[in-house]
Amino acid sequence: MTCFKLYSACIPVRGASRSIICNLVKGNFNYIPNTLYDILADYKNCNIEKIENDFDERSHKELHKHFNFLVENGFGFWCDKPEEFIDMELDWDRSSPITNAIIDIDNLSKYDVSEVIRQLDNFRCEALQIRCFSVISIEEINRILSVTTESNFISIELYLKYNPIYNESFLKDLCEKHKRIRFAIIHSSPEEKVISSDDDYYYAWFDKTELKDESHCGNISRKYFSPNILLFTESQHFNNCLNRKISVDKEGNIKNCPSMLMSYGKIQNTSLKEALEKKGFTDNWIIKKDEIEVCKDCEFRYICIDCRAYTSDAKNKYSKPAKCTYDPYRTTWS
Ligand code: SF4
Repeated sequence: MTCFKLYSACIPVRGASRSIICNLVKGNFNYIPNTLYDILADYKNCNIEKIENDFDERSHKELHKHFNFLVENGFGFWCDKPEEFIDMELDWDRSSPITNAIIDIDNLSKYDVSEVIRQLDNFRCEALQIRCFSVISIEEINRILSVTTESNFISIELYLKYNPIYNESFLKDLCEKHKRIRFAIIHSSPEEKVISSDDDYYYAWFDKTELKDESHCGNISRKYFSPNILLFTESQHFNNCLNRKISVDKEGNIKNCPSMLMSYGKIQNTSLKEALEKKGFTDNWIIKKDEIEVCKDCEFRYICIDCRAYTSDAKNKYSKPAKCTYDPYRTTWS
């Protein structure tokens, strides 16, 4: 057992000043020094003798400490035939032309939300976010969600503005009645409280944060990092926020994302399919993290959701997300 091998779902990512190693099955990551990243990259499938020979004897203890760390934390193992363990493919594809969507609603919205949901379902859209910035009635919520009962959606994330009649049992009943709901959030609530189903199928909570409009979006923080296979692989090839996304803002504009300026038509007289086929709609889908200023040097780039709506330079579509305070050169958040 002389060769060190990383598990196929454990992938290191090099940053300007340090690296991380992600476990994409467990959904976690650890920091590693860039020197260890380089050893793992340069000595892939080499036996330990070869590695030791290339390093000064005084550094062997440190070398073994690094490998022990990786084994103890479940990132890798020793073996004799590393060629028998293949690396994970980092390809990404889906059969649906649209995989995720956002629908925004407030009390001035004048479009048929149920019809938008039907059109999204025709695309076999998997993930839907519905954000209500004003209070809407329970009847209206149920009417909108009833369209999803026999749909292709895998997950629905629902944001509702707090109303005193939305209590814990209302929220539980709603999630149990509409099985596609994975996350239900009551925003602008006077108190914070978390409710989850017995089988953890859905998560619901009351949150004090007020969502007045789409401008709350685009925040970058460690708590949003998501080390999973889908995000990691999509990030290698596409924009991990906008790829295969379509949105309808609260005024009925069809956009890449409700926070973006460009509208591809009003939903009242343009179908989602027509908007999708318009010139330029998919241009932002291919801006990947490796092309974005600063992010391209950041160790978190494949587990961090991008934002192209709020950027540090509005004239440069490759500029860093404006709401990120991380500096990968100093490894500090400000
Ligand atoms: S620099 Fe880019 S990749 Fe790194 S945390 Fe900020 S937004 Fe995410």
